[in-house]
Amino acid sequence: MAASSGHGLRGQLLYVLAALLLLLLAATAVLWREERAMHAEVRTLTGSAMAALARETLQRRGEQLATSFASRMATPITAGDRTVIEDGARALRHQPEVVYVIVYDAGGRILDDGTAMAQPGRAMVDPLASAALAATTTTSQWTDNLLDVSVPIVQAQQRIGGVRVGLVGRRPSAEETQILGPLNRHLERAGFSHRMWMLIALLGVASVCAAAVWLLEWRILRPIRTLAGLLAGNEPGQTAGLALASHHRDENRQDEIGDLFRAFERMREGVIRHDREIRRMAYTDPLTGLANRLAFSESLDDRLLTLQASSGELALLFIDLDDFKRVNDTLGHESGDEVLSQLSVRVRLILEQTNSLGSEIARFGGDEFIVLYMAEDIRSASSRLAEALIEEIQRPLLIDGKQVFLGASVGITFFPFDANHAGQLLKNADIAMYQAKVAGKNCYRFYSRAMDQAVERRVHLEQELRGAWDRGELSVAYQPLFHLADGRMTGAEALLRWQHPRLGLVPPSVFVEVAEQSGLIGQLGRHVLDQACADAASWIARDGSKLFVSVNVSSQQLRSGELPEVVTHALRHSGLAAAQLHLELTETAVLGDEVQASVLLSRVRANGVKVWLDDFGTGFSGLSHLRRVPIDGVKIDRSFVADVLRDPDDLALTSAIIAMAHSLGITVVAEGIETEGQYAVLRERGCDQGQGFWLGRPMTGEDFLRKVQELQ
Ligand code: C2E
Ligand code: MG
Ligand code: MG
Repeated sequence: MAASSGHGLRGQLLYVLAALLLLLLAATAVLWREERAMHAEVRTLTGSAMAALARETLQRRGEQLATSFASRMATPITAGDRTVIEDGARALRHQPEVVYVIVYDAGGRILDDGTAMAQPGRAMVDPLASAALAATTTTSQWTDNLLDVSVPIVQAQQRIGGVRVGLVGRRPSAEETQILGPLNRHLERAGFSHRMWMLIALLGVASVCAAAVWLLEWRILRPIRTLAGLLAGNEPGQTAGLALASHHRDENRQDEIGDLFRAFERMREGVIRHDREIRRMAYTDPLTGLANRLAFSESLDDRLLTLQASSGELALLFIDLDDFKRVNDTLGHESGDEVLSQLSVRVRLILEQTNSLGSEIARFGGDEFIVLYMAEDIRSASSRLAEALIEEIQRPLLIDGKQVFLGASVGITFFPFDANHAGQLLKNADIAMYQAKVAGKNCYRFYSRAMDQAVERRVHLEQELRGAWDRGELSVAYQPLFHLADGRMTGAEALLRWQHPRLGLVPPSVFVEVAEQSGLIGQLGRHVLDQACADAASWIARDGSKLFVSVNVSSQQLRSGELPEVVTHALRHSGLAAAQLHLELTETAVLGDEVQASVLLSRVRANGVKVWLDDFGTGFSGLSHLRRVPIDGVKIDRSFVADVLRDPDDLALTSAIIAMAHSLGITVVAEGIETEGQYAVLRERGCDQGQGFWLGRPMTGEDFLRKVQELQ
């Protein structure tokens, strides 16, 4: 946490308290110093006052002694009585504090100094002498510790001499020391007690600081940290036991922190509730109530980890509804949703019936479902499950009173055999599902490594196909059609060719499918239609024949709903008469949604364009179809024609188709006539027109025009 590592509240408080303590310490030190200085000053002042007093006392005594001595010396000096002078001086010298005594005459010469070595008549030369001689009254002079008091002796207004007395100050008397001793002791005691009080004050402040820190730490910061811990790290419900215990203690407090904790607890509960709700919403598909892609991806990762540890096996089934877009387009999105929710229930039921523990189902996207499946003998169990799922999805659904038929393509992959992580497994299953689609839909495929290459090739082909028309790699070839009865050429089928610079001639069976899967077919189909119409218009313009051109139309072009407009545009642009254009649609293209197909085909036919059912018989939908969908002709599939001579059943079927079509007023065309025998049989059975290598191979537009001209 930032607060605990940086300058948190506690740190800041500690700084403040430490500063306070330092300040107090400094103040105490200053006070202590001041006090000592004051004590010293008191001592000095007291000392000097006493010294001044001692000097004054000494001076008074000196002056007293000197004046009294002077008064006694007047007469002996006048009389020249040396003995008296001598005795007087000696006596004075013995007085305490007196260090010298000088008696001098009017000329300033020493008469006596009270010592045995006195040298009478000697002049006074000491530094104080001149001032003493000059003085007319009692004069005191101080040098350091020495006091010189001189008193002139005057008689009959005549100075006859004088005396000088020198005194020195005594050492402090016992009395004085007695005065200073208690003072010192008193000062010492006062100082000590001051220091003690200051220490106590300091300790008091320190304890208050410690108490403040403790209070802050224990009563405020710790609960705040607990709260922060609860808020920050732990998702709701993941709080550590310790934090939770102190959390409960704090929650029962009857103060502001207690209020904070209670408010937090309410907030936490709210967050947990919301969190649960959001998770539920984020992980569930609202339409089907199944787990969604996110939930599935997360749980798959977990599952694989557990399985890896226990060496378990798992099948992942990728279910994609076939042509689900058609339901949305024709019945509306609400019906589409209804289809999805009904199907999800069915899939769930099938899965429940397998009694497989640990199986799971999720809606992965629009019309995609994923099933995780675990079983003994996983491969065969999975194929049984896939079959059951496909069968169940195939059963008609009742939507708004209408029956809806759907199919599903299923891709299956196995963990750990095909892949051992979620992303790769999903990719594999998707590839296998795609292969199931390619294989004709409504079936299942197991993933195999070979599929990867197929997918790569397909992706590559798709990239190459994009823009191939603009690069001029695509062209339209024409295969002539003939009246079987008289061998007259009736028209030609336009067949798309792709001459790739590197791959060579790519067969339409390969690239048409790629174009359909990638959605390129719409654009390509328009080009072919425009080109074919333009070419046919040019043939007719050149020789005036009434040839038609027959253009293949993919189921996707029909379903997009744009076919009538595309056809009209091609006709108008080329100037070709509508009757000269035939459209070839496969049975399955029409079968998917008869209602929509009928509407669109009726619009096309209304202009005069003819519609033929191509590859008739392969998807064998039943001839009843022919009555419901408005068509003008059927093209019997090559596979029947190929065996018409060898297989009596095929001959019978072909004959039945011809008879039935004729009874409905529909033209019959045979494709893939490779031998004269086939031609003869078909003509004999009444087949109207034919097309095949024996009659004419697909050729370029120019070759075809040449052939037309040859035949004329
Ligand atoms: P389809 O519409 O059934 O076209 C007839 C196919 O039979 C052509 O194959 C043609 O070359 C081939 N064929 C004709 N006579 C004989 C014969 O006597 N023996 C044999 N073995 N084959 C014969 P092609 O050109 O390879 O086209 C294959 C399929 O590709 C077409 O089948 C058609 O479904 C699709 N296709 C071709 N061009 C287009 C197109 O422009 N648009 C769409 N949507 N599909 C096209
Ligand atoms: Mg065709
Ligand atoms: Mg055909």
